[in-house]
Amino acid sequence: MTNAAGPAETVFAPASGHGRAGIAVVRISGSAAGTALARLTGRDVWPPRRALRATLADPATGDLIDRGLAIWFPGPASFTGEDIAELHVHGGPAVLNGVAEALSAMPGLRVAEPGEFSRRAFENGKLDLTEAEAIADLVAAETTAQRRQALNQLDGSLGRLYGDWSGRLTRSLAHLEADLDFADEDLPDDLAAAATAELEALAGEIARHLDDGRRGERLRDGITIAIIGPPNAGKSSLLNALAQRDVAIVSARAGTTRDVLEAHLDLGGYPAVVLDTAGLRETADDVEAEGVRRARHRADAADIKLLLAAHDAPAVQALLDLLGPGDLIVWNKTDRPGGDPPAAIGGGTPVAGSALTGDGLGALVDRLTGLAAARLAGGSGPALTRVRHRAALEEALAALRRASLAALPELRAEDMRLAIRAVGRITGRVDVEDLLDVIFRDFCIGK
Ligand code: GDP
Repeated sequence: MTNAAGPAETVFAPASGHGRAGIAVVRISGSAAGTALARLTGRDVWPPRRALRATLADPATGDLIDRGLAIWFPGPASFTGEDIAELHVHGGPAVLNGVAEALSAMPGLRVAEPGEFSRRAFENGKLDLTEAEAIADLVAAETTAQRRQALNQLDGSLGRLYGDWSGRLTRSLAHLEADLDFADEDLPDDLAAAATAELEALAGEIARHLDDGRRGERLRDGITIAIIGPPNAGKSSLLNALAQRDVAIVSARAGTTRDVLEAHLDLGGYPAVVLDTAGLRETADDVEAEGVRRARHRADAADIKLLLAAHDAPAVQALLDLLGPGDLIVWNKTDRPGGDPPAAIGGGTPVAGSALTGDGLGALVDRLTGLAAARLAGGSGPALTRVRHRAALEEALAALRRASLAALPELRAEDMRLAIRAVGRITGRVDVEDLLDVIFRDFCIGK
C-alpha cells in the first residue's frame, strides 16, 4: 500500500489519448507533482482545484513549450489520492513531446504505465476493483446502454452489493466462531442456527444474481447476431446494408464468403455484432468447407440467428430446424418478381425486404432492437459485468453450498472463509481478519 504522499516515483502521461486535438490533458501524479508544476510554470503557489492560465517552459533550457491551463489537486482529495497536477495544452505531438521531455528530465518522474493512475487510486482506497473496471468500460462504451451500465458500476452499485454480501458473510462467520470459541459465555442460544439461515439466504441471492442470462457481460461485449442462410441468399448484401458500409465482399458467385465477417451496430442503444457466415451447405471445396465449419460454430454461439432466404427460393427447411424462439427469419429479394412471402414460418413472422433496395430494412432493425432489448434490458439490481466476477461468485456459491452441508461447525467456518475470500477478490477488499472486531462489537465478550 502507498500512503497519501505517494510512492517514491511520480508518474505522468497524456490523459486525453493520441492524435491531434484542440486540447490535450497531461496528468502528473505523485509527491513530486507540485515541484514539477512549479518548475514548468514558474509559479510556486497554486490554489487547489482551480484552472489558472499557465505558460509552460522547459526549466532546463528556458524554451517556451506552450501557453495553456493548469489545475492543482493536492492529495488526498484527488483521483489517485496523491498530489496531482493537470496541464491543459494544445493537442499536437510537438507540444506533448515538449512537455514529456521536460518532465522526464526532472528527478523522480517517469511516464505512467497503462492503467497506473487507476491502479494508484485503487491502492489508495479511492476506488474498488469494480469501479476501476467501470472506468475502463466507460471509456470503451460505444452505446447508451453500455454507458449507463458503466456509470452505474462506477457509482459503486456493484461494489456495494458485493460489499454487503461480504459484510453479512463475515458477520455470520463471526457468530459461528463465537459460538465455537466462547461456548461457556453467555451468548444467545440460536447464534449458530441464525448463521446457518443467513448463509442459505445468501446462497440464494448469489445464485439469482448469477442466473441473469449474462445480461451485463453481453452488454459489455455486444449481443451477437449471426446471419445464416443458403449461398447467394444475400447475406453479405444484408450485412453491408445494415452496416451502411462495405464490410463483406458481395459477389454473384455462390460460396464466396469464405470467412466470418462482422459489423458493429447500435440497436437503439444496445450494442450488437452482426456476423456474416459462409453459406451453410456441404461442399467438397476444402477452403469453403472450413468456412462452413466456422459459420456453423459462430451461428451456434450467437445470441440471435437471422435466417436469410430469397423469397423466390424457399428451400430452407434444414436451416429452419436450426432456429429457436428468439431467432428471426428474413425473406430477401422482394424487389424481384415471385411468390408472396409467407405470413408465418415455424411460429415466427418473417421480415420481408430487399438488401439491394433497402426496402424493409427499417422494420428489420426494429425487430432486432426488440430482440436485443429483450435480452439486455431490465433485470433488478446491478448486473455482473465480467467473467472474473462470475468465476469468483461461482466459487463463493460452491463454498456456501458445501458449508450448508458441512458435518462439523469447524468445517462450515472454513468454507465460509473461502466464500468471503472469493467475494472479496471481486472488489479487492478482503477483510476476513476483521472477525474479532465483529465479535467484540456485537457481544462485548469478557467485558
Ligand atoms: P450471400 O452468398 O448470401 O452472401 O449473397 P450475396 O450478398 O453475395 O448476394 C448474392 C447475389 O444476390 C448478389 O448478386 C447480390 O447483388 C444479389 N442480391 C442480394 N440481395 C438482393 C436483393 O434484395 N435483391 C436482388 N434483386 N438481388 C440481391
